[in-house]
Amino acid sequence: MKKEFICIVCPNGCHISVDDDNHISGYTCLRGLKYVEQELKDPRRFLTSTFKVNNGLSRVCPCRSSTNVPKDKMFDIIKEIDKVQVNAPIKMHQVIIKNVLNLGVDIIATKEIDKDGK
Ligand code: SF4
Repeated sequence: MKKEFICIVCPNGCHISVDDDNHISGYTCLRGLKYVEQELKDPRRFLTSTFKVNNGLSRVCPCRSSTNVPKDKMFDIIKEIDKVQVNAPIKMHQVIIKNVLNLGVDIIATKEIDKDGK
């Protein structure tokens, strides 16, 4: 069955097709071809979420994966992030979970959170 993709590598958003013989067409540049080859083999995405903060000026802090993660592991990673509680202060790019689920990817904070002064 023919598969359709919209390339997300640049704002052009080329429509790329893969036919039954795995012939790829519709890409404008090689980055688009590589994107679809990766999507067929091992689709990956950057993950963003939030984790809980103790004794901070905010009770949650945004975080992201250090690199893109397998799409089919996203929910499992979010469950791991949901288990975490970190004491403030939180530093920018502080590693919150090292090598999450042994995927070779860290979860890192993307905001500084100071301690609650109370
Ligand atoms: S195929 Fe190339 S030009 Fe088209 S969206 Fe992808 S990166 Fe951009």
